[in-house]
Amino acid sequence: MKPLADGTTPPKNSSYWVALQQFDEAAAVLGLEEDMGDLLRHTKRELTVNFPVTMDDGSIRVFTGFRVHHNTVRGPTKGGIRYHHLVDMNEIRALAMWMTWKCAVVNIPFGGAKGGVIVNPKELSEAELRKLTRRFATEISIVMCPEGDIPAPDVGTTPQTMAWIMDTYSMHQGHSVNAVVTGKPIEIGGSLGRFEATGRGVMITTREALKTLGKSFRDVTVAVQGFGNVGAVTAMLMQEEGAKIVALSDVSGGIANPKGLDVKAVAEYCETNGRLVGFPGSNEISNEELLTYPADILSPCALENQITDKNADKVQAWMIAEGANGPMTPEADRILEDKGVFIIPDILCNAGGVTVSYFEWVQSLQFFFWSDEEINERLERIMVNSFHAVMAEAENRKIERRVAAQVLGIDRVVKATELRGIYP
Ligand code: NAD
Repeated sequence: MKPLADGTTPPKNSSYWVALQQFDEAAAVLGLEEDMGDLLRHTKRELTVNFPVTMDDGSIRVFTGFRVHHNTVRGPTKGGIRYHHLVDMNEIRALAMWMTWKCAVVNIPFGGAKGGVIVNPKELSEAELRKLTRRFATEISIVMCPEGDIPAPDVGTTPQTMAWIMDTYSMHQGHSVNAVVTGKPIEIGGSLGRFEATGRGVMITTREALKTLGKSFRDVTVAVQGFGNVGAVTAMLMQEEGAKIVALSDVSGGIANPKGLDVKAVAEYCETNGRLVGFPGSNEISNEELLTYPADILSPCALENQITDKNADKVQAWMIAEGANGPMTPEADRILEDKGVFIIPDILCNAGGVTVSYFEWVQSLQFFFWSDEEINERLERIMVNSFHAVMAEAENRKIERRVAAQVLGIDRVVKATELRGIYP
């Protein structure tokens, strides 16, 4: 792989390495000039912050956080904030880059960004999390604003986290700035439908993929990895559409029942017990077993690099709906493509979240709100059109769907770059 401008190459199999590998493949399909490729494979701006938080016992702990803007040619940058103990700069760079292509695939006027803090949020009290969030928001406010960079929730962060960021930013400005984040609670300017949007987009693209095979949700069984915002809503909506959900998992382990699991009841059980395992009438399975569980559709909705060359050939599903970003390595991708598995790539499959985040941003800027029906109808239209645009790209160019999604997104960013020109 060609080194970056600073002479480094990301570690093999790190998320950034995967993102660059995918980019290089798509750039070759597009026949991109080398200098344009060089421009787009680099992030525009990277901020690392080390900041103190006073913990409940009076001690001071220093945390490290990141905010990366990958590209701004199509508009302000957009992307979530992740709280996880394994977050690092390379992961954030990859996630920011994928956000750029994702926004372009669904043709919304944003570039890509991502942020994160190295922390296990489950180990902090609510007061500590609030202080950490307020300080992190203050630290990144030099690169965050409603016209420039708009965060949203990701792994380990919630609408409450967004409320604290919005309030912190607003306190510094002296007035309420609702549009500085999306994924906020409805009560302070959040959008109807945003909480469900990513899972709804996963459901819509999967439904369209099934249609191309002459099938519907009523014909299939589904296993979902991750039972957070994306995984739980994906499982619930697919079940509502008639699918049988046979296996679910979260970080603490998985559960299965070949006859089907009642997802709402599982969610209630999880709320009360803090974990899925032990849900009455289910068998306990490991996370590794979930990925290879006999189900027609596998929807990885947790973290990156879950399906690798080590387990890809054991995957039994014939369709994979990538709710998570980067859930499989390029080697796994190849193995599954060779097996004829229908992969709905992340930057298409999970783009419902950023699409409704766009709607939320527009509503927040205008202080004028849309109904549930308007949101879901617009989301449906964008997801269906984007799905078919990616399928057409794959068909016309005779390339894999993941490459097709990248090609579609990257090409739109290239056109915008050419129109704007290189400053000065
Ligand atoms: P979340 O924090 O709400 O949920 C994450 C879930 O994954 C939790 O249930 C957690 O227990 C589980 N998990 C973590 N590690 C796991 C492991 N090793 N095995 C199995 N389960 C594990 O996060 P989320 O917002 O649902 O995000 C999930 C994925 O979807 C991430 O890749 C994220 O980048 C992506 N995504 C999120 C959004 C969004 O709107 N929230 C939008 C697009 C993509």
